[in-house]
Amino acid sequence: MKYESTRGGCPQQNFEQVLLTGLAPDGGLYVPTELPHFSLEEIESWRELSYPELAMKVIAPFIGDEIPTQDLREIIEQSYAAFNHPDIAALESLGNEEYVLELFHGPTLAFKDFALQVLGRLLNYVLSKRDQRVVILGATSGDTGSAALEGCRHSDRVDIFILHPHNRVSDVQRKQMTTVTGNNVFNLAVEGNFDDCQRIVKAAFADQSFLAEDRQLVAVNSINWARILMQIVYYFSAALRLGGPERKVSFSVPTGNFGDIYAGYLAKRMGLPIDQLVVATNKNDILHRFIAHNDYSVSELAKTYSPSMDILVSSNFERFLFDVFDGDGATVADLMTKFGKDIRSVPNERWQRVSAIFDSAAVDDETTCEVIASVKAQTGMLLDPHSAIGVEAARRCRRDDSVPMVTLATAHPAKFGDAITAAGLASPELPEHLSDLFEREENFSVVANDLYAVTDYVKTHARR
Ligand SMILES: *Cc1c(COP(=O)(O)O)cnc(C)c1O
Repeated sequence: MKYESTRGGCPQQNFEQVLLTGLAPDGGLYVPTELPHFSLEEIESWRELSYPELAMKVIAPFIGDEIPTQDLREIIEQSYAAFNHPDIAALESLGNEEYVLELFHGPTLAFKDFALQVLGRLLNYVLSKRDQRVVILGATSGDTGSAALEGCRHSDRVDIFILHPHNRVSDVQRKQMTTVTGNNVFNLAVEGNFDDCQRIVKAAFADQSFLAEDRQLVAVNSINWARILMQIVYYFSAALRLGGPERKVSFSVPTGNFGDIYAGYLAKRMGLPIDQLVVATNKNDILHRFIAHNDYSVSELAKTYSPSMDILVSSNFERFLFDVFDGDGATVADLMTKFGKDIRSVPNERWQRVSAIFDSAAVDDETTCEVIASVKAQTGMLLDPHSAIGVEAARRCRRDDSVPMVTLATAHPAKFGDAITAAGLASPELPEHLSDLFEREENFSVVANDLYAVTDYVKTHARR
């Protein structure tokens, strides 16, 4: 399988090359040059497969012969062996053909484990084969950091440095990062905010001369194609359990950087009968405004109870726009430099394609808490604030009550206790494997809000 940049300005790459990088050199994101398509009969034949076996079917065409099947199978099996639920992705009913797909049974209690457990192992496998080492550098305001550290701590060919804003992440989130142990994991608390962390990471990727000659930086945020790829699988898994592919299924997805919902869109294009795809946002609603009204104007960032969706511009949206503009990289490149600022809408016939594929809703904090409380009262299920936004958006957008509507539950409620107590409920407990989190020893270094402070740290701490 070959991959191309959404901005059309650089040569095609294979899976391995795309895995070992971040943005394409022209500033675009890598997408496959063609999508595999599965027939209904083929999808039907997967009904009895275990989650790892299903994953093999869905991802194999994207990797081709670059990784031998048996090796890939081992990587996938080991990755999902770390999950605490026999179904890996657990489907729960709310009644009325409404479902919640619990994606938080991985080691760090958020859906990001589905991809990052695999990514750490894939990287190590490919790097061993090439006898190479890399440095992962990433910034996080929460869930990505812990999932990436947890996914890479056994990857002895990877040194991972995760930046978080000092004193600006929740206690649970900080503890989940700073208690990960390993001689290749480094937590840096930057004396600045999340944007400062992101700016530093971006600048470091742009000039990697501070690294030893045989090293390069790898990205673990959702611009990395392998993350999107692993998220396609659970759409197939949920649909098969609800009577697909004979029957259509709809999905509602709490959305931040548009990685998770983009994976659902790909599943649909690959042949899975999906009816509605609902983009659920919080007050940071640029995607909702665009899908509903062709209004893509960037506003101020609002802080909400669902911090993993507090994002001004969603990086993966570019991957979808590439399709809307028929794979015309030059047009996408031009649009992306102005979109949200000088250009705030797309031509009507393009926008109609967008609104034909996605429905959307924006849910405020007050409603989020109401949904958490009412779902708990009616069903006993405790939703985290991101998942509650998904459920509310699903209800607002649902067109046909006979079609199963699945909301992706992206995090365990214990990660976001503030919203739960604001909803008038008791603060939820951490699951057993993390119950001693607050007693574990923390390891992190405070560094100045400065590119060179960070790159010097990486240079001196990356293993020889
Ligand atoms: C990362 C995250 C999201 C947003 O996912 P995207 O792929 O960035 O759209 C939603 N909810 C939770 C809990 C997350 O950690």
